[in-house]
Amino acid sequence: MKITNIQGKVKLANEVEMPYLGLGVYKADNGEEVKTSIQHALEAGYRLIDTAAFYGNEEGVGEAIRNSEIPREEIFVTSKIWIDDQGKGSTRKAFNDTLEKMGLEYLDLYLIHWPVPGKFLDTWQIMQDLYAEGSIKAIGVSNCLEHHLESFKELGGVQPMVLQNEFHPKLIQQELIDYCKKNNIHYQAWSPLMRGEILKNDVIKELAEKYGKSAAQIVLRWDLQKGVTTIPKSVHKERIIENSNVFDFELSLDDMRKIDALNDNTRTGAHPDHFMEHFS
Ligand code: NDP
Repeated sequence: MKITNIQGKVKLANEVEMPYLGLGVYKADNGEEVKTSIQHALEAGYRLIDTAAFYGNEEGVGEAIRNSEIPREEIFVTSKIWIDDQGKGSTRKAFNDTLEKMGLEYLDLYLIHWPVPGKFLDTWQIMQDLYAEGSIKAIGVSNCLEHHLESFKELGGVQPMVLQNEFHPKLIQQELIDYCKKNNIHYQAWSPLMRGEILKNDVIKELAEKYGKSAAQIVLRWDLQKGVTTIPKSVHKERIIENSNVFDFELSLDDMRKIDALNDNTRTGAHPDHFMEHFS
């Protein structure tokens, strides 16, 4: 991945281009909070917004996008189908509800939020139809392990173009990233800042000092240099801007390795094989 500036993009398996830095809006309120966050982000040059039906803020996200002066086709919009909506009979309705709430004609990326056992492959079949109809430019999955991805392969048809997983210096899952690379599935990081926790880490703080950048900038730059695209969330203008200023420095290989060495497989969210207990 060639890292150039905030509007740089990666090419997905179907040639659709996706910005490698975006704004996450989980826990941003569906009103002024999400709308102003998106406005600040678009002003700062962000061109990807990541939401989900579960976040309850699709109306606000859609309104901010529609009200911006930036043409719709220049903004990459992601949403996700929630657990309760999965299955053959309900996927299309969930997607239509999302579009309606957002007031948009299409989505750039639609993801299966969590792979519900016994349902996610049926969900995928309908998502393939929506993709073929042109209502979604790219389709993908979230919170999957290799065995989930293998089951898409066995199913055949269009394969996930993106895997959005928890990813930060404490949870790298390099083998899964390598599997994705081999299979042309783009890896995208959720909770890249470990919800703020990783910013307190001494190694990260030392590197921030060394490069004259903030701890968040060090971590987000590390994402990009690892070939992983990233969607940090903030509702604060100064942090939204700070998180986008990661294009004027480069971490050395040694320092990349120092960050890699922090990995201890700590998760902040649920495990992809045990999430049903988590959300019940
Ligand atoms: P992040 O790792 O992005 O961390 C967000 C937290 O860090 C917030 O508390 C934010 O506070 C704070 N923060 C942001 N920037 C800075 C900064 N520069 N300095 C100090 N603190 C900062 O966590 P998320 O869990 O929100 O993940 C990012 C996005 O990934 C989500 O918003 C969502 O879009 C997506 N996601 C997807 C999931 C999935 O299952 N597919 C699961 C979870 C997230 P504040 O807002 O107050 O500035």
